[in-house]
Amino acid sequence: MIAINFSLAVALFAVLFLAVFFGLWVCAKRQKDKDLSLDDRFIWFCGVCTYTYINTRDDGFSTCPRCGSYNKK
Ligand SMILES: [Zn+2]
Repeated sequence: MIAINFSLAVALFAVLFLAVFFGLWVCAKRQKDKDLSLDDRFIWFCGVCTYTYINTRDDGFSTCPRCGSYNKK
C-alpha cells in the first residue's frame, strides 16, 4: 500500500482542481472565439473595386456597398 500523508493529498487535490478549472477555462475561451469568428458565407469580395465587405442577408448575389456592382459567390 502507498502511504500518502495529508499535505500531499491536499497538494494533489489542489493540482487536480486547478487542472480541471484550467481545462474548463480553455474550453470556454475556445467556444467564445468560435462565436466571434465570422462565417465565410457572409464575407464578400467585389471583383470590380476589390472591396471586401460583409453581407449576411443575400446568398447567391450581393450588391457592393462601394461601387454598386453585383457580385456572385
Ligand atoms: Zn465594388
